[in-house]
Amino acid sequence: MQKYISQLNEAQQEPVLQKDGPMIIIAGAGSGKTRVLTIRIAYLMSLGVDAFSILALTFTNKAAREMKKRISDIVGASEAKNLWMGTFHSVFARILRSEADKLGYPSNFTIYDTQDSVRLISAVIKEMQLDKDIYKPKQILSRISSYKNSLITVKAYFNNPELQEADAMAKKPRMGEIYQNYVERCFKAGAMDFDDLLLKTNELLNRFPDVLAKYQDRFRYILVDEYQDTNHSQYLIVRALSDRFQNICVVGDDAQSIYAFRGANINNILNFQKDYEGVKTYRLEQNYRSTKNIVEAANSIIDKNKTKLDKVVWTANDFGNKIKVHRSVTDSEEGRFVASTIWEQKMQNQMMNGHFAILYRTNAQSRAMEDALRKRDIPYRIYGGLSFYQRKEIKDVLCYLRLVINPKDEEALIRVINYPARGIGDTTVEKLTIAANHYKRSIFEVMQNIDKIDLKLNSGTKQRLQDFVTMIQSFQVINENQDAFYLADHVSKKTGLVQELKKDATPEGIAKIQNIEELLNGIKDFTEGQKEIDGARGALSEFMEDVALATDLDKDTSDEDRVALMTIHLAKGLEFPYVFVVGMEEDLFPSAMSMSTRSELEEERRLFYVALTRAEKQAYLTYAQSRYRWGKLTDSEPSRFIEEINGEYLEYLTAEETNYRYKPMIDNDIFGDVDKSKLRLAKPIGGTPPKYITDNEPKSDINVRKLKPVSSNAASGTANLFDNKLTLGNVVMHERFGKGEVINLEGVGADKKAEIKFEVGGIKKLLLRFAKLDVI
Ligand code: ATP
Ligand code: MG
Repeated sequence: MQKYISQLNEAQQEPVLQKDGPMIIIAGAGSGKTRVLTIRIAYLMSLGVDAFSILALTFTNKAAREMKKRISDIVGASEAKNLWMGTFHSVFARILRSEADKLGYPSNFTIYDTQDSVRLISAVIKEMQLDKDIYKPKQILSRISSYKNSLITVKAYFNNPELQEADAMAKKPRMGEIYQNYVERCFKAGAMDFDDLLLKTNELLNRFPDVLAKYQDRFRYILVDEYQDTNHSQYLIVRALSDRFQNICVVGDDAQSIYAFRGANINNILNFQKDYEGVKTYRLEQNYRSTKNIVEAANSIIDKNKTKLDKVVWTANDFGNKIKVHRSVTDSEEGRFVASTIWEQKMQNQMMNGHFAILYRTNAQSRAMEDALRKRDIPYRIYGGLSFYQRKEIKDVLCYLRLVINPKDEEALIRVINYPARGIGDTTVEKLTIAANHYKRSIFEVMQNIDKIDLKLNSGTKQRLQDFVTMIQSFQVINENQDAFYLADHVSKKTGLVQELKKDATPEGIAKIQNIEELLNGIKDFTEGQKEIDGARGALSEFMEDVALATDLDKDTSDEDRVALMTIHLAKGLEFPYVFVVGMEEDLFPSAMSMSTRSELEEERRLFYVALTRAEKQAYLTYAQSRYRWGKLTDSEPSRFIEEINGEYLEYLTAEETNYRYKPMIDNDIFGDVDKSKLRLAKPIGGTPPKYITDNEPKSDINVRKLKPVSSNAASGTANLFDNKLTLGNVVMHERFGKGEVINLEGVGADKKAEIKFEVGGIKKLLLRFAKLDVI
């Protein structure tokens, strides 16, 4: 153990060695917070603390697995396996299963995913005969989600006139009723949505002091990573569980708080000192992840935020290369730049695909990147977006399996009752739903009693409903005796799902069958793994729990070497040698939807800080002057965040050739007295890759050049005045802002800025390097 502790610096050792009491570690990105948590857990165990009594809450289950693996390496796998580790959702889902009866839920409750929730809300809105353009299901769900995360139950809602008034003002006077119906329907279906997992845990701990005492006694040491992004509901759980022993260690970085839109509350970190007595506060200042250029550039960004804790982040690492900024005319060109740079870097520095990450603000941006990577045959993997388990064919299989476990699960039932088609039409389903609501029973129960209720169904329909019930019940029998793989294989065949897909001989149809095979393989892996562990049967319910709570990063089980594509939100806590932050454009990043208040803009800025600090060696910022958004070609301005970085950490690239291979530019002003014979990049010959002479010279700055006047780039649209003579009083025309007068000039060269008073829109300060201006 001593060996591992000595690998930490002194500031990191202190919180590891403090065994008891409340403590908070506030520190910037890459300073070893997660590492400290990991070593601290191993250290506690080395002191004899029982693994069963340690609870560690992480941002993803993958992070928990990695942490567990490291701890296993230190203390041994048999010890580490008993640690309670995972996301809030997965840990508390597990606890809720064993306590479900207290809350009136079956222990086999279903976890509804967002798709299920949205569908159910749509159904409720329709049944209430409301206008779905006013009551937009997704919006309604996010409102309900925020109520739940603030512990505003339906009852609390109806006791709160202010909330009701606010909803009425927002033209949603019937919000409360929708909330109520939604909650009742979930309950009737034996289902919890994601937010329920936290809300119901709170309810459990509040209403049952004996249950609270049991878990307080059990979790004597609690550790929370990424504490800055906990919401109120999560905060209260941690607070309650740690109340007795007060051995609570949280780590976080206020500058990386990026989930306010989902209810994360930065005050949780700011108020921690007030919540516990005798809190020890630790700060880590040394960043081990990134180069000096990256660390300092990130510092210069976050400095622009007003709301922040004062923190120092420095690194002893090399300066490294500057952050490279690349402009392209279109988003597909941006993709080509990224793909060819990855390709070149792989050649030049023997990097693996997995050393590169492409981060974007919104999932929609992945398409252009994917196209370009495919053309270069670079394997990649997209995280987020429509995940594997949400694909239609997969979800169909899963919904049958859900029904086997919990036949009350209405979302699952409605999805598969007539798929593959078995002659049970919409009208029949509607009648069943109405009856189920009327009798306060599940649809499945209504179907089981179809002979006793008069729904005016013909005998053929009744028979088909009974056949469906019998089929599901036969699966239930199998489930009691066989493992999950056997059952899933049986279900996908016996329901006719596979036969249905086989009718479609198109590549898409074939891909769907392959996906089902992949699902079955996954289930097989799972059951084998379970059997190995402790002779368990590998039961379906455990697999389904994993699936319901798997975050997108968790599905990364393959060892294949791939470039990672993901949103910045998902990249939190991760690190990659090379990081491309793409789509650095106004209205995209910062997002047009998050610019109306200072606090929204500050959250976007923190998001940018998170993006930049994922990079170890090299960061690239790219933007396009135009891109397709909502099916329309739109012009864009470079993101203000590029400008906000202190210019000394940036280097502007210009594509010298349309194929984006960079010629070495032997400019004395860039390379100074460099001996040109040592330059590594030989000129590309024909279509072959550039060759590099291997010597030990640093590889930076060789195949790029500083930004030249944009007018020299044949591809550029409007003129750019970076090196033109613009003088006070000039009247200029700007593509977006129209006509204006230059009222001030500052800076030199690439940093030259003009203050322009536009006829419409007022005074704006523009970096001339970027501004699309014409003097008129
Ligand atoms: P983030 O805020 O992004 O979550 P973090 O503070 O959790 O970052 P870690 O991920 O724990 O930082 O550490 C960043 C990198 O620095 C990791 O690769 C880690 O192994 C390494 N590291 C941390 N501390 C040390 C150390 N004392 N010596 C060497 N490497 C270290
Ligand atoms: Mg971390």
